[in-house]
Amino acid sequence: MLGEVRRAACVAVGDELLAGDYPDSNSGAIAVALAELGIVVDRFVVLGDRKGDLESAFYDLCARYQLVVCTGGIGPTLDDVTREAAAAAAGVPLERNEALLAALRESYMRRARAMPESNERQAWFPRGAQVMPNAVGTAPGFRVWIDGGTLCVLPGPPHEMQDMLRRELLPWLRSTCGQGQGIVRHSFYMLGLPESAFSDRAGDWMARGATPLMGVTAHTGILKVTLLGKGESVEGARAQVEARAAEVRARFAEELYSEDDPRPGAAVVRQLAERGATLAVAESCTGGLVAELLTDIAGASRVFEAGWVAYSNESKVSALGVDPSLIERHGAVSREVALALAQGAAERSGADFALSITGVAGPTGGTPEKPVGLVWFGLWQAGRLEAFEQRFPSVDRASIRRYAAHMALNLVRLASR
Ligand code: ATP
Repeated sequence: MLGEVRRAACVAVGDELLAGDYPDSNSGAIAVALAELGIVVDRFVVLGDRKGDLESAFYDLCARYQLVVCTGGIGPTLDDVTREAAAAAAGVPLERNEALLAALRESYMRRARAMPESNERQAWFPRGAQVMPNAVGTAPGFRVWIDGGTLCVLPGPPHEMQDMLRRELLPWLRSTCGQGQGIVRHSFYMLGLPESAFSDRAGDWMARGATPLMGVTAHTGILKVTLLGKGESVEGARAQVEARAAEVRARFAEELYSEDDPRPGAAVVRQLAERGATLAVAESCTGGLVAELLTDIAGASRVFEAGWVAYSNESKVSALGVDPSLIERHGAVSREVALALAQGAAERSGADFALSITGVAGPTGGTPEKPVGLVWFGLWQAGRLEAFEQRFPSVDRASIRRYAAHMALNLVRLASR
């Protein structure tokens, strides 16, 4: 029995991980899945295929964590030493599981193949371990008790790991730890609010011991706010979350664009469709990204009228009718050119809304007056033109473009409410 598991560690095993051949994606996926049960992973460890290192890591981690989830190193070859290390850390011998060996042989026979002798290794487990069958590969996983904690070993290949996690480990954790019964999670997606401003306005909702717990992550302008309610029962946890969710909706009515779909394009398409309105975009620094985020959404054809990628100064003039003297006087990244681009897109498309974006995505091309990250937006709506200036953090080019595209979509969302 595990009792109340709250904290866990993940161990990824493999010399190739340390050689940088591929990154450890298993631990992150496990942490996400465990978080659904309210279990916090606060340590990732990556180790090579050395039995001694693994043995001492398993031993030390199980002394500090009630749950340690390890992936990799349970294949059929001699360099797969995770099972030996687990047995040694648990102070028990490896034993052959005859039923499993028969099942392994049988699965080879069904495919009209003889089982290679080396695969027999996969039927050996630390004495007392509970076996977790592998429905999509040959190496079964196992759970073994090591002085204070449970070590759960899953296969390395991510699809096998995921399958065993969902099919075996999570259900076992739910039943053994009583986790999951009273856990309810709900997320909100917001735009137009820096993380710090969100935190100020959320106040003590974000306190460490708050009920429900609130967490926020920010990525290129999108805030994901998650509520985690925990109670004796699902109903209790749901009631906590629903009460706070109603307050979040009221306090962040302007910024909140979705509670299920993180894609800002989906919110814009849905809203424009509800209004029966259409949109055109004239993009410079985003190079078509806004059009892509919109046309990614099924049903975009009802609202997306046209898009231009007017990247060079000449194309801003020839394709969208921007007065060349505006570009000469104010530069391509300016209020005046943003307004002219939006107007050009509106006139040429006949759409109800027209949006333009022109900015410095970097890494070169910035000046003290117009630094990397400066973006101007123009918005045309029913004959009215407005411009917006934003200075995004001067991070990398791809992020600045994404920030700008998200802000563009947010401007349309707010204007078409
Ligand atoms: P196998 O039976 O395939 O040998 P195994 O459990 O021994 O299974 P490993 O040999 O350690 O697993 O890894 C097999 C493959 O799985 C690796 O070559 C790699 O592609 C992938 N893999 C292993 N660990 C990880 C990880 N932590 N993150 C992402 N991919 C991984």
